[in-house]
Amino acid sequence: MLARNCLLKGLTLSILTVFAAFISSACFRSPPDMLECDIFAMDTFMSIRAYTDDEELPALIEGEIRRLEELFSATLPNSDVSRLNSDGSASVNNDTAAILGDALLLCERTGGALDISVYPLVCLWGFTSGEYKVPSQDEIDDRLQYVGHGKIKLDGALASVAFGMQVDLGAVAKGYTSDRICSVLREQGIESAVINLGGNVQTLGRHPDGRCWQVGVKDPFDTQKTLLTIGIEDRAVITSGNYERCFTGDDGRVYCHIIDPKTGRPTDNGIVSVTVIGENGLICDGLSTALFVMGEEKAVELWRDSDDFEMIYVTSDGRIGITEGIADSCTNLSRLETAVIARE
Ligand code: AMP
Ligand code: MG
Repeated sequence: MLARNCLLKGLTLSILTVFAAFISSACFRSPPDMLECDIFAMDTFMSIRAYTDDEELPALIEGEIRRLEELFSATLPNSDVSRLNSDGSASVNNDTAAILGDALLLCERTGGALDISVYPLVCLWGFTSGEYKVPSQDEIDDRLQYVGHGKIKLDGALASVAFGMQVDLGAVAKGYTSDRICSVLREQGIESAVINLGGNVQTLGRHPDGRCWQVGVKDPFDTQKTLLTIGIEDRAVITSGNYERCFTGDDGRVYCHIIDPKTGRPTDNGIVSVTVIGENGLICDGLSTALFVMGEEKAVELWRDSDDFEMIYVTSDGRIGITEGIADSCTNLSRLETAVIARE
């Protein structure tokens, strides 16, 4: 087995566990070698495992991830997003135009629960600097006037925002990136791979031994444990959880990094995690954030009106909701009760 760790060899990505059937592979036909690339990018530990003999692949993947990070980062000074935020308009690369266009469609589709202009509030609460604080209502109201995805314009490669607005692609960048990595792998003729971007997983094909991939979803009440596993092939499995980046305020309340764009406050609606399963990584990523903000009832409504994703949500009172299209592929490892959500 060839392995290359670009940065962090041996790091355990505990959010989602991929239970590929490595043990059994010896009993079946001999699979291709597994190449592994572990890197830290986009503020995230990433691990890509692809079944191939092509030793050039890790460098190719790392190059693609770094290229996208340099376009999408809101903190790197020369990224497309930073130029847009500082100048109010910018001519952007094809990938930036594509992610912006797709993200804006999702903002619209989710009634603004996803809003990529929420960055001034993400900063205000300290989620970018780590200097967390509970701001005053005046400070929140002041920032809210600069939030509104409808004021982001995209005309071909020219993107622009209204005065004072700031774009943040944090809710969709990893999904777009895993889609891109999948495309690169397919172009290289690879049929079997798992892309794990900080717990957001996208799979290509099946494991070489013919089984589907078993992807674990983290238990939001005990993040060392796996809540359930999902058997999938050619799907993304992307989770937004209240445990990911959060802080406890002086008032004793826990504030999570997903902001409700309507209130300007961290979302607190009884949902503790939402996992979205679908073919398109960007859609799954954007929807996991949006459905988290929308809450149980509206999330179920949106799922019933859609045909491009399935979801699993966990509520703060300890219930698991699983939409019927994925229910048979899930194995609950927890003591929480599951309810299958039907189309009606
Ligand atoms: P995710 O982990 O994919 O749910 O994305 C959360 C990240 O997206 C946060 O760290 C913020 O940078 C950003 N964000 C927070 N709330 C929203 C929102 N309502 N719409 C879009 N982006 C958001
Ligand atoms: Mg997301």
